[in-house]
Amino acid sequence: DEDPRIHGIRTKIRVVPNFPKPGIMFQDITTLLLDPKAFKDTIDLFVERYKGKNISVVAGIEARGFIFGPPIALAIGAKFVPMRKPKKLPGKVISQDYTLEYGRDRMEMHVGAVEAGDRALVVDDLIATGGTLCAAMDLLERVGAEVVECACVIELPELKGREKLNGKPLYVLLEYY
Ligand code: AMP
Repeated sequence: DEDPRIHGIRTKIRVVPNFPKPGIMFQDITTLLLDPKAFKDTIDLFVERYKGKNISVVAGIEARGFIFGPPIALAIGAKFVPMRKPKKLPGKVISQDYTLEYGRDRMEMHVGAVEAGDRALVVDDLIATGGTLCAAMDLLERVGAEVVECACVIELPELKGREKLNGKPLYVLLEYY
C-alpha cells in the first residue's frame, strides 16, 4: 500500500558510509535534487498531506530543511521561517540549546516571524536522534505556535528519535535501517 512514488525517491538518495565520520551512514539528498521527477514527487507527497490543513507556517531547519520547506510552503499558502544555526539571523532572535550525539548546539529563530496562534509544520530532510526537531518545536511553542506535525524525507528508526518528540506526530516518506 506504499505510494509508488516512494520507491523512486528512495533509489535517488545516495548513502555514503563513514561520512562525516566513521560509523555514520550519511543520507545524501543532493542526488535526489538532481532528478526533477523524484524531487517533485517528494514535494508533492508532502503538499498532498498538508494542503487544506490550515498550516500557517512552515519552519525549515538549516540547511536541508531550506531545500524542502519553501516549495511546500508556497504550495500550501503558508509563510516560510528559517530555523538557523547561531549568529546567522540579523534581527532579534530567540534561541534554544540542544544536545547532539557529541556536544551541544543552538538553534535560532527571528522574533516576530511566528506568532501565537500560528499552526506550524516543521520540515527537515532527516530525523536521527530527534534532538534537532525537538529544538525547533521548543522555539515554536515558546512563541505560542501550535506544532501540527514534523515532516522529514528520511527516518533512521533504530535511533528512536520518534520517541523523543513528546507524542508530536512525525510523518516520513521512508525509513532507513
Ligand atoms: P538528530 O538531531 O539526531 O535527529 O539529527 C538530525 C539532523 O542531523 C538533521 O538536520 C540531518 O540533516 C542531520 N543528520 C543526522 N544524521 C544524518 C545522516 N545519517 N545522514 C544525513 N543527515 C543526518
